[in-house]
Amino acid sequence: MAHPKTERTLVIVKPDGIQRALIGEIIKRYERTGLKLVAIKMIIPTEEMIEEHYLLDPDWKKAVGEKAIASYVKKGEKPPSSDPIEVADSVVVSLKKYMSSGPVIAMVWEGGHAVESVRKITGSTEPRSANVGTIRGDFVLDSYQMADNDTRAIRNLIHASGSVSEAEKEIPHWFKPNEIMKYRVPHEATLYNADMRDILG
Ligand code: ADP
Ligand code: MG
Repeated sequence: MAHPKTERTLVIVKPDGIQRALIGEIIKRYERTGLKLVAIKMIIPTEEMIEEHYLLDPDWKKAVGEKAIASYVKKGEKPPSSDPIEVADSVVVSLKKYMSSGPVIAMVWEGGHAVESVRKITGSTEPRSANVGTIRGDFVLDSYQMADNDTRAIRNLIHASGSVSEAEKEIPHWFKPNEIMKYRVPHEATLYNADMRDILG
């Protein structure tokens, strides 16, 4: 197995993140953990790119539908449908509109347990229930209920790969191999080296 310090994950600042002028804040949150930015670009995605992106993982549709239904049930509210695939189909339509509505910033972050670390800092899908201290918990307040009432995607500022296998499929969807940089930064020695000799010269 590869060392966890070489793990990579895809992050996208969604159109609402750009509109809210949160690009710097979002990058800062990941950068200050020690994760390394190895690729970045601003683009206006097409609807096809977004549909392909979300359907890269064949299990995503069922999971996204089940997650939405469970959230309604937990709050004692009625979900818009009890069929997870039906819920997911309408989420895909909304996501295509949302994610292609303006520029986004796609990034690849590399470092220790990158996928898990980035998800932890990002917070859970629904900002209403995302923890304080996470990006989604601190900077936005959308909910399943508000999004579904208006037949739109939940506005939660960021996409972050949900698992290592998802990241491995998503990164090549957004970046060519030569757009991903290989380089060192000095603090990697402090984060990862087996011992911290040479501090005192
Ligand atoms: P995450 O982005 O946290 O990995 P998912 O992969 O489950 O979340 O869903 C992808 C995106 O689809 C979410 O970030 C959100 O913008 C949107 N979304 C998910 N579920 C719903 C829903 N039930 N209604 C509206 N939008 C949704
Ligand atoms: Mg996801």
